[in-house]
Amino acid sequence: MDEQVSHVQGSTTPLFVELFAGRGSLSRAALQAGFSVLSVDHEGHDPVVPIIQLDLTTESGEAILWDMLDSRQLLAVHLGLPCGTASLARERPISRALQLQGVPNPPPLRSAECPLGLPGLGEVHQAKVNSANKLYWLAIKIMVFCFERGIVFSIENPERSWLWAALVQLSLQHSKEAAELYNRLDKVTFHACCHGSTRRKSTSWLSTRGVYARLAATCQNDHPHEPWGVRWNNGTWIFDTASEAAYPVVLAQRAVACLVDVAIQRGYNLTKLTRLHDMSTAVQAKQTRKHKPLIPEFHHFSKKKAADPLPPNAKVVAPHLGGENREEQDSDVLQEGAQLEKVGFYHTPKQFVSRAMQTGHPMDTTDHLEQVTLEALRFNLKYSPQVIELERKKNLLQAKLLAKQNEGLEAELHSKLPAFMQKVLAGKRILVWKNLLEKYGYDDMAVVGFMTKGVPLVGRHDTPPCYPELIRPASLTQEDLENSACWRRKAILGKKGGKQDLAHAKHLEETAKEELDLGFVEGPFGSEQEVTEFLGHDRWMAVRRFVLVQGGAEAKLRPIDDCHESQLNQAFTSTSYLQLQDMDYISGLALRIAEAVKNGEQRFGSGEWYGKCLDLSKAYKQVGIDPRHRHLAVLFYYDSNGAQQFLVANSLMFGATAAVYAFNRLSRSLWFLMNRMLLIPCGVFYDDFPLFSPKELAQNADEAASSLLDILGWRHARTGPKGKPFEDQFQVLGCNLDLRGIKDGVLVTGNKPGRLERLLEHFARVKQAGRISLHEAQILHGLLRYACGFFAGRHLHQVCAEIMAMGSGAVRSRSKDLSSLCDYAVSTLKASRPRTLTAFSEKRPILIFTDGAWEQNRGGLGAVVIDMATGEKWVLAGLVPQQLLDRWSELVGDQLICQIELYAMVTLRWMFKERLNGRRSIWWVDNDAARFALIKGLSNSPTMLQLVRAFYAFELSFPTFSWVERVASDSNPADAPSRDNASEVMALLDVQHCLEFQHPEELLAQLGITAGQKRKGVNR
Ligand SMILES: [Zn+2]
Repeated sequence: MDEQVSHVQGSTTPLFVELFAGRGSLSRAALQAGFSVLSVDHEGHDPVVPIIQLDLTTESGEAILWDMLDSRQLLAVHLGLPCGTASLARERPISRALQLQGVPNPPPLRSAECPLGLPGLGEVHQAKVNSANKLYWLAIKIMVFCFERGIVFSIENPERSWLWAALVQLSLQHSKEAAELYNRLDKVTFHACCHGSTRRKSTSWLSTRGVYARLAATCQNDHPHEPWGVRWNNGTWIFDTASEAAYPVVLAQRAVACLVDVAIQRGYNLTKLTRLHDMSTAVQAKQTRKHKPLIPEFHHFSKKKAADPLPPNAKVVAPHLGGENREEQDSDVLQEGAQLEKVGFYHTPKQFVSRAMQTGHPMDTTDHLEQVTLEALRFNLKYSPQVIELERKKNLLQAKLLAKQNEGLEAELHSKLPAFMQKVLAGKRILVWKNLLEKYGYDDMAVVGFMTKGVPLVGRHDTPPCYPELIRPASLTQEDLENSACWRRKAILGKKGGKQDLAHAKHLEETAKEELDLGFVEGPFGSEQEVTEFLGHDRWMAVRRFVLVQGGAEAKLRPIDDCHESQLNQAFTSTSYLQLQDMDYISGLALRIAEAVKNGEQRFGSGEWYGKCLDLSKAYKQVGIDPRHRHLAVLFYYDSNGAQQFLVANSLMFGATAAVYAFNRLSRSLWFLMNRMLLIPCGVFYDDFPLFSPKELAQNADEAASSLLDILGWRHARTGPKGKPFEDQFQVLGCNLDLRGIKDGVLVTGNKPGRLERLLEHFARVKQAGRISLHEAQILHGLLRYACGFFAGRHLHQVCAEIMAMGSGAVRSRSKDLSSLCDYAVSTLKASRPRTLTAFSEKRPILIFTDGAWEQNRGGLGAVVIDMATGEKWVLAGLVPQQLLDRWSELVGDQLICQIELYAMVTLRWMFKERLNGRRSIWWVDNDAARFALIKGLSNSPTMLQLVRAFYAFELSFPTFSWVERVASDSNPADAPSRDNASEVMALLDVQHCLEFQHPEELLAQLGITAGQKRKGVNR
C-alpha cells in the first residue's frame, strides 16, 4: 500500500549519537534542529539534555552501546573523547609559586614515541592510561562501523593532543582497513574563540570528509582572550583546560548546521513528528503544547556579514535552525562561514494575515485515521449489506481452507516448540495467521517471530516499520542480570513488606491456580531450592507478584508482576514509539463516520450505526516467553499463610516492558485483519478492539470477528453473558460512546455511570480535610482528567491543571484556596454536560488577533477579527479599565503586560461570544505567557489564573473550538491598534470603523472588581 510506505518515509527523523557528551551542548543543538538524539556519558554533570549513563570501558556498557548504534536512522556519531591523559597541558609545568600554594603538578603520561603510555608509570596513572586506551580502541571500532554504513563520524580533541598519535597506532593494530579509513578522515582545525569560546584553544575535529569543513577557522587576534591558568574554585584547583571541555553554544550550533546539510541531502525529515495522539486531539480541537505552529515564525531566511547592521523586521537566528524554510546554500561564502550570521525575516502583518486566511482549523485539516480503517469505512459506505456479507463469508472461507491445508504443518510447528510454549500456544493457528498477513500485505511481518520463538524479555526487539523509531536504551545487559541474580533475589525475597491483605492473598492464590490449569505458569514451587532444581541452575531472577486495586467503587483486583523492582525492565532497549489508538483516536473515528453519513456518502441502509468493544481474554497470557529468558521470569507471591510460593512464567507478564511492545504489535496484526479482511472499521488499544458497523450489518460483523479469532485460536469474550452485542451506545475504553445521533452527524461521549458521583464525593472529602497530598492529587487528577475528556468544553481541563498544581506544591496551597478550588471544581462538574461532537457545522474559522501594550501606565488593547464564513472584519482598539490596572499593580507590581495581553483575549471572548458559539476559532497572540496559560489552563500567577478561568467560563454557554497560536509582534496586525494607531490595518482590511473594546460589569466582577469598588483579592 502506497500510503503506508510514504507514512514510513515521512517518519525518518535522523538520529545523532553523542558519546562522552559531557553537558551535552552539541546534543542540545541537534535536538533543537530536529534530530533524534542519544547522549551518552559515564556521569551526568549539570547536563542540558538527558544523559544516558553508560561506562563504555565495561563490557556491558559497550554491549548496550552497540544496540543503540544498530538503528536504521543513525546519521552521525560524535565522540568528544576524554583528553585528560593525552593532554599536552601536562607538559607545561605548573609554576613553583603555584605548586607551593598546593596546586597539583600533573606529569605527562604519553609522548610522541609512546602515544599509548610512557613506560614505568605508577599504578594510578597506568590505570588511567589503560582505561583511556580502551576508549580509544572503541573509537576505532566505531569508526570502522560508521564507514561500513555511511554514517558521519567525528572525534574532537585539542589539536596538539597525543590522542591523534594514539589513534594512528591503534588503527594499525586493528587492521589494514582501519588504518586506511583513518587516513581518509578530514582533520578540521579551528581556534575555539572563532566559534564562541573565550579562549584561543586550537581544536581539531577529525571527521568524515567534507562534512565539517566549514568549521575551519584561524583566530586573527582581533578580539580579547581570557588567559589560561589554574583557579581555586569550590574547594578544588580547576585547570582551565578542564573548564574548556564543554563546547560553546555557537560551536555546537555551527557543527550541527553542518549535519543539517547532510540530513537534508539524504532526504531525512527534520520537522518534529506529530504523534498519533496529538493528531487525534487536534481533530477534537484539544490543543496541547506539542502541536506544531500553523504558520512558521519567519517569512524567509538570509545571511549577512556579522559586522553589517541588522535589517528592520528581522532577527539573528542560530545557524542550525530553520528546518524546511532554509535558504539555498551560497557556495562562494562557504569559506568565511564563521563570520556570517543567519537572519530570519518576520512576515509583515499583511503577509501574515493573508497566510492566516488560508489556514484551516487543525480539527479539520488533521487526518489521523489509519489508511486500512478508512478503506474499510469506504467499503461499508459504498456497498450493500449483501455484498459486504458475501465478501466476509468468502474471506473467512478462504481462511478456513488455509487452516485445513496447513493442518499437518501447523501440528508439526507446534510439536517442535518447547513443551512450555506448546501449552501456551495450544490452539493457535500460527501458519494461517502468517499466511493471511502476507496475503493482505501486512507491514510488520516480523511480528510472527513473537509467536514462533517467544517474546524476548531483555535486549532489544527489531524496529517495526509501523511505528516511528524511538530508542530508549537499557542500562543493564542480560549478563549483568544473571551475574547478580542470586544476590538481587536474596534482597528482594528478604524484603519484609507490610501485612498483606487477606483478600489479596486469596486473589493471588486463585490466579495462580487458574494460570497453572491453563498452562501459563509452571509450579508451584515452595522454595528457592525447588526452582533451582527445576531450572537446572541458580542464576534466576525473582519477580514479585502483587495486587493492584483498580477503579474506585467497582474495585477490580489485578495481579501485577513487578519487573521494575527485579530490574528486568532496565535490561530492555525499546526501539519504537507505540502509536496507541486511545479514546481520542476512537472518537475521531466515530466522528468521521458521522460526517460521512450526514454527508449522504452511505448508499444503502438506514444510516444508523452500532458499536461494540471486543476484548481478548487474558490477552498477554496467550503469548509465550523466549525460552532463553524464562529464568528471568520466576514469579513469587505470599499465600494466605504468608508462605512464599514460586511460579515459573510461560507466558507474558503484566508488568514487563517488553511484553507491552510485543503485545501491541500482535494485537495490531489482528486489528489489521479485522479492517482489511473483514471490512470492519475498528481501532485497537492493547487488547480492546472498538468495532463499528452499520446497524444492518452489526450482527454479521460480530460473528465475523468472532469467527476470525476462533480460526486463529485467540481466546476472546464472545457475545453472550461476558461479551455484549453491537449496540447504539456502548462502553469503550472507560467511556460511554453514544451513536444514536450519528445520522444527524452528532456524537455524544459521556462518562461511565457513577463516575461523576465518585468525583463529587472525592472533592467533598478533600474540602473537609482541608489539605491534599501529592498522591491524592494524582488520583483525583487521573479521575478528573479521564472524566473531563467526555464533557463539553475546555473548562474542566483548566480545573484539572489547577488540581495537579495544588497537589504538587507548584502553587502554594492554603486551605482557603483549596476549599475555594473544591467549590469551583464541584460547581463546574455539576454544570458540565456530556461532550457532543458535531460532524456537520460551519468549518470556516473565525480568526482573532489580539495584542496589548503597556507603556507609561497606559494599558492599550488592540484586536483584529475576521469571520472566514461571512467575510466580515473588525478592527478594535481600547484601553484596560483603570480599576483593573490598579488592582493588578497592587497585586503584582508594574509588570502588567501579560495580564493586559490575556485580558484582551478575555474581553474579546465576551464581546464575540454569540458569534463564536459552536464555531472554530483560531487565536493569534504574541505573548507566550498568555498563550501557554490558555493552552495549559493554568498559571502560577493568581491574577493570570483568574483571567484564564474567565476565558473558559464562557465555554459552558457559548462553547467554541478555540486554538491558540503564536504570532511575532512584528507580524501581528493587532499591534498597531493597541498603540492607538488603527488606520493602517483598517486600510489593509478595508474596514471603515474602529470598534471600542467593551468592559461589562459581569466580566469585571469575575476579575475581582465590583461596581466601582475594589474587593480584596479572593485568590491572592
Ligand atoms: Zn581568538
